[in-house]
Amino acid sequence: MNEKIAVFDLHCDTVLACLKQGAELKRNHLQLDLERGLETAERWIQTLAFFIDDCYRGEDAWNHFFDQYRLMRRFLEENSEAIRLWSPTSFPTDPCCQAMLSVEGGAVLGGKLERIGELYRLGVAMMTLVWNGENELGSGIDGCGEGLTAFGKNAVREMEQNGMVVDVSHLNDAGFYDVERLAKKPFAATHSNARSLCAHPRNLTDEQIRCIIDRRGLIGLNFYPLFVNGGQEYAIDELIRHAEHILSLGGERILALGSDFDGADMPAAIPDIKGLENLYQSMIKYFGTEITKDVFFGNAAEFFRRVTRRKGKKENVL
Ligand SMILES: [Zn+2]
Repeated sequence: MNEKIAVFDLHCDTVLACLKQGAELKRNHLQLDLERGLETAERWIQTLAFFIDDCYRGEDAWNHFFDQYRLMRRFLEENSEAIRLWSPTSFPTDPCCQAMLSVEGGAVLGGKLERIGELYRLGVAMMTLVWNGENELGSGIDGCGEGLTAFGKNAVREMEQNGMVVDVSHLNDAGFYDVERLAKKPFAATHSNARSLCAHPRNLTDEQIRCIIDRRGLIGLNFYPLFVNGGQEYAIDELIRHAEHILSLGGERILALGSDFDGADMPAAIPDIKGLENLYQSMIKYFGTEITKDVFFGNAAEFFRRVTRRKGKKENVL
């Protein structure tokens, strides 16, 4: 099957994997590279997350971000024919990867709200507030069980004012509902599945899924077996069951992909970005072409067009 597809993936950790392993983005042995991505997708927006563990503090956190950011910038400069920075006003029409930059881990702020504006000016479109532990903003699923801190609440407000999308994946439940109460704009859970099918706290309860549907937010399906069935090898149908469940709650406009490539082990059915062809063909059998295309690209594209459109602000510079 050589039909090329449009792909909008909300989460991968490929930049840090490249940094750790000295690998290139153009071609590598990881789960995602430009060559395989462009063989698979004719239109491709890829969110590339810079991962900042909750344990980083102050300047260490910022330096850790910059190590990844510098590498990404080199990738953009050296592969300009294959990848360019995404902007909310330009959606891809040619065979080129559009890179949406995000930060996974609000520890990057080092406790300084003004860093949000700096990140935004560097091209960071979205931020996951916490990872699994605790940082200045709040707690992840292994944290203390409390919600957002006062700083975390201010960070959400500041992100919204800057046009940066709030990502609630990894937040504990108390933090999720703090965002739900506080946020004026739709928010995303970029790489989380349905907890009623796989009882892992990284997944979303039905009530949380409904909150995101009511706000016309976004949920990205995560391929990691631990979040699909507790950690067993799985056939693609098991992942599709999560999609089916979210759709059954009314999620046909908010469901998207959040692969977690290079941040987690992948199933044999989707070993790397080329495996998206398998998922696409399987999804069509269950849901038909229109919904499958929306999940693969349309819903995320519509969300970012709607949520990140700003008036009177300069476009990202890089
Ligand atoms: Zn993650």
